[in-house]
Amino acid sequence: MVTAFKKTMQGERRPVLSVEEALEQILATVRVLEPERVPILEALGRVLAEEVVADRSIPPLANAAMDGYAVRTGDVAQIPTRLRVIAEAPAGRLCPAEVVSGTAVRIMTGAPIPAGADAVVPFEHTRADGEWVEVLRETRPGANIREAGEDVRAGQVVLSPGQVLRPQEIGMLAALGRTEVAVVRRPRVAILATGDEVVPPWETPGPGQIRDANSYTVAAQVRQYGGIPLLLGIVRDEETLIREGVRRALAERADLIITSGGVSIGDFDRVKQVLAAEGEMRFWSLNMKPGRPLAFGVVGGVPLVGLPGNPVSAMIATELFVRPALRKMQGFTEWPWPELRARLTDPIVRKDGRRHYLRVRLQETPEGWEATLTGDQGSGILSSLVQADGLAVIPEDVDSLPAGAEVRVLLLR
Ligand code: AMP
Ligand code: MG
Repeated sequence: MVTAFKKTMQGERRPVLSVEEALEQILATVRVLEPERVPILEALGRVLAEEVVADRSIPPLANAAMDGYAVRTGDVAQIPTRLRVIAEAPAGRLCPAEVVSGTAVRIMTGAPIPAGADAVVPFEHTRADGEWVEVLRETRPGANIREAGEDVRAGQVVLSPGQVLRPQEIGMLAALGRTEVAVVRRPRVAILATGDEVVPPWETPGPGQIRDANSYTVAAQVRQYGGIPLLLGIVRDEETLIREGVRRALAERADLIITSGGVSIGDFDRVKQVLAAEGEMRFWSLNMKPGRPLAFGVVGGVPLVGLPGNPVSAMIATELFVRPALRKMQGFTEWPWPELRARLTDPIVRKDGRRHYLRVRLQETPEGWEATLTGDQGSGILSSLVQADGLAVIPEDVDSLPAGAEVRVLLLR
């Protein structure tokens, strides 16, 4: 699977994976989680984990599809015809009257069809006249009648495991009398920031310190993609402290652990060491930009993604690798990226054989979408993501592109 080796500054040979190879390994490691029962509204957007069978038919009885008069079609073969109105049938209860020849029942939409009637003539085809009604148009048997079970038959399998529940499925569950339903549970995702210089957002950074942006970007992404973020805070660049943080994540029953920082080849990058010592390291370098240093492994049976500390790299790596992992864990079988094609307004020259994800702003023109770089593409420039509508994907084998070239843009909207 490994496509290439590159020499680090220390002369260490390190395997360089493509984005696809890395994603394949991550997806092969994460498992679909168990089901849980939740109130139906909580199940929106989630994957059904049971078969849903109709306990009864919908509608339960034949009923009127329109407001009008329930009649016998034999009586209205000749029109106009006068019928005596013998009762009124509102929705919600059975009409005790029987429609016998020469009579009609005034009926509301949804009301059960009274015995004897075989059609409903809508009001607009009649003229009321005291106790009588004049039918002005002919009708056929079954007209404006909804048959019992025409929507759902009792015993029918209505929804199947693996289906993603949309609003219409939630409504169907309610119609079937279900208040709870089994869906694949949400992954618990422990998020740990590392770095001697990183302080929580509520603190005033001292000289050389910065506030922790990554924990919150990643927690927001985790939530957006259906996971439950567990913020474990910040640990210093010490192996024992990172180890302790990972143990806390395991004690919290995390299904996935995400760290940020400490995965590059700097002297203080300890996450890789912890991963190697406590678990199994699968890879730690990718052929992409931003986000080359990305560690992945398993500790205590739990997958761990070690994100780079640079905020742009951390967010993009989460989009590319954590999002699919979270979707798979929740039982989804596909997780298409919303994307479009756009023309670059600036040329691209500085390529290096890596896959680039460039932050772009999109603008719709009469000739289609245009993508403009959001300024500095440095991996520490979080504001370039704040301004971005999407990520333009520049393949590994493309060295430069002229202005006007068409590119794929993954949407961040
Ligand atoms: P590292 O991957 O640990 O070498 O960090 C790379 C860069 O990202 C450094 O400039 C760090 O200060 C910065 N950084 C690391 N962690 C965070 C964080 N949680 N929030 C914002 N920036 C960070
Ligand atoms: Mg660091």
